[in-house]
Amino acid sequence: MNLYEKRLARVRTAMHENGLDTLVITPGAAMRYLTGFTEPGSRFLALVVPDDNPWLFVAPAINAEQARGNPAGVEDVRVWEDAHGWETLMGPLAQDLMLNIGIVGLDDDMPARFALKLQELMPTALLKLAGSALAPLRAVKDGGELASLQRAAQATDALIPVAYAACQIGASETEVGLTLQQAIARGGDADSFAPIIGAGPNGASPHHNTGRTKVKSGDVVILDFGAMTDGYHGDITRTVAVGEASDEAKRVYDVVYRAHQAGVGAVRPGATAHDVDAAARKVITDAGYGEFFIHRTGHGIGLDDHETPYILSGDYTPLWPGHCFSVEPGIYLPGKFGVRLENIVTVEEDGLARVLNAAIPPELMVL
Ligand code: ZN
Ligand code: ZN
Repeated sequence: MNLYEKRLARVRTAMHENGLDTLVITPGAAMRYLTGFTEPGSRFLALVVPDDNPWLFVAPAINAEQARGNPAGVEDVRVWEDAHGWETLMGPLAQDLMLNIGIVGLDDDMPARFALKLQELMPTALLKLAGSALAPLRAVKDGGELASLQRAAQATDALIPVAYAACQIGASETEVGLTLQQAIARGGDADSFAPIIGAGPNGASPHHNTGRTKVKSGDVVILDFGAMTDGYHGDITRTVAVGEASDEAKRVYDVVYRAHQAGVGAVRPGATAHDVDAAARKVITDAGYGEFFIHRTGHGIGLDDHETPYILSGDYTPLWPGHCFSVEPGIYLPGKFGVRLENIVTVEEDGLARVLNAAIPPELMVL
């Protein structure tokens, strides 16, 4: 069996276990995982996986050739024309496949305009989100995927000096982000997400919208960015001071650094997501900053930049070899600054975490 045949076999098992008769998957990470193919667009394009019939694509004419070239070798590509609309193809197809009498799983990211139209086309089918059935398959990475994630991590690490060089007094957040994106483009990769650059008080919003704010002397700056390789995402965060660093900034950095190390140190086969979150959170709480650590400790990463497992308080999902996720504790002081430190780790068979990224500086760097 090739890679995609194996994944198809696993997805059929997951469908069976989750009571799904058919999957309808629109472009995104799940389509790419199953077929090696995805093509963003506004028209209806879907992979249909019936439980006891061959899988097939429904594709608009403008994407038909791309769909026919899918790496998984899905041979049956049904093509619809703009003049007729996808419903004229999908309606009769749903009848042929008897989707109307079953449970149809949709990918979680399917646009509502497609999901609601599908419900109209098969009024007696029960439509359900299939994300929770598919997520466990994608959460455990195989050797090839881990190699891609390692390459994405290396491509991302190579940007660290670029970020530091760009983060100068007078440069705007947008300029720093753009410099990173240009460096990624020159390296031949795509960016995993638009860089998050948070200067001074902006860094106190964990997902600050990178903007016009200029870096000033004394600012603490959050730099969160990633490069993608083979469709797999990179994602790191470094925090630096520019010009000079206050004692408070140094102290907070030290707490977040120790929290990060504690989180990574708690990663081992069989430890739960909760354990890792708790280890990182304890350091921050003990230092008196608990109320300023306002997000989960990490997220899985792969074909999506955020996917399962989530490193979350109260989530007792055990972590196993092949899981790959971020450890990214932070402290956010409103009106002042934020500090977040993020690397990607995997769980190793030998019982330790393997960190895919470069080591984080133990003390706040002043640029
Ligand atoms: Zn990040
Ligand atoms: Zn992240």
